[in-house]
Amino acid sequence: MAVTNYIFKVASRCNADCSYCYVYHKDDQTWKGQPRFLSLETFEASLLRIADYWLGRSGRLHIGLHGGEPFIAGARRFGQWMSCVETTLKPRGIEYQISVQTNGILCNTDIMQQLRSAGAKLFVSCDGPPGVADLQRVDHLGRPFSRQVKEFLSCLQHDWQDIYGGILAVIDPDSSPEMVMDYLEGFQPPLVDLLLPLILRSDFSDLETFQLYQHRLCEWLERAFLHYLNLNTNSQFRYFDHVLLSAASPPFERAIPFDPRETLVIESNGDYHLDDTLRICGDQFTATGKTVFEAGIPEVISSQSFQKLNALTQLPPACRQCDLQNLCGGGLPAHRWDRNCQEFGLASTCPSLYQLFHQAQEVIESFRQHRFQQQGFSDVDSKKQRTL
Ligand code: SF4
Repeated sequence: MAVTNYIFKVASRCNADCSYCYVYHKDDQTWKGQPRFLSLETFEASLLRIADYWLGRSGRLHIGLHGGEPFIAGARRFGQWMSCVETTLKPRGIEYQISVQTNGILCNTDIMQQLRSAGAKLFVSCDGPPGVADLQRVDHLGRPFSRQVKEFLSCLQHDWQDIYGGILAVIDPDSSPEMVMDYLEGFQPPLVDLLLPLILRSDFSDLETFQLYQHRLCEWLERAFLHYLNLNTNSQFRYFDHVLLSAASPPFERAIPFDPRETLVIESNGDYHLDDTLRICGDQFTATGKTVFEAGIPEVISSQSFQKLNALTQLPPACRQCDLQNLCGGGLPAHRWDRNCQEFGLASTCPSLYQLFHQAQEVIESFRQHRFQQQGFSDVDSKKQRTL
């Protein structure tokens, strides 16, 4: 398995202060010791490491610019970063796709023009209509910013379709899935990523509250999945498509869209980190102890921290009796972390995953039966034709 996905923390600070953010409001506090922005020197050194690693390989790399909030870095830095990718990777014949993740507060058309020239894609975080998004997504004065996000998305939809990558939405199990999906779909995004909240069993005061949460998440996903099956849309809801594809194509692929072993995060000081979702497991949990100035990517992959990740992507013992284990793969490693016991166990999302995959299997089975019936009838029809 190769590392194809490189997430650059181009800005370590953010103009928003969302309550669920895994960068600022969970256990990991890496951001505090980071430079505010990724320097051109660090970016270039990182890209040269990537180019060395990719020598002789084929396929497309993904270069993601994340934060914090990347747009606070301004157009001048974006211009430098874009041309640095072009002058470092292109002459070496390396195929790549740049993407940028923004919270949608600042609509900076100079930056967007830079992205357009570089063929980059822009993704916007939006959890749904104001009544949903405003509950958790606020700025540093506690003010919601869903109005700015709405304007940003309308602007992308109408004037910047070529750089419009899609929307990322963290699921709020207390919201109406139909209302959230219809709202997001109204901006005609090419892609919608519905993300399971990064919540652990130990985030709840008692078992009963935790089970209530699990129940609400189950119900949300069940309704959302059914809604998607009936939604007349050109937007791809990636998670559901992936689940359906996995259920339809044995030997089953695991239904985690991204394997965390394919991702490396590069902090604004040049430190390599593991996949971002694992930050909820503790301060410095994702740290590899390596930096782009001293180590190449093969060295990071063979480091102890990456070996730890290899172990975490195996099926957990708690799932070995499950009839959907090959399909589900045990869920996200981060969801399996138990802060109280300091160990990885059954995913906090398990009931939702189990139900969703069962639903997907039922949908595929009824589709197969429908096709079989159609096939049967058309066989009979063509035999009739031949007899006549
Ligand atoms: S549905 Fe639950 S028990 Fe089954 S593999 Fe997934 S996480 Fe494990």
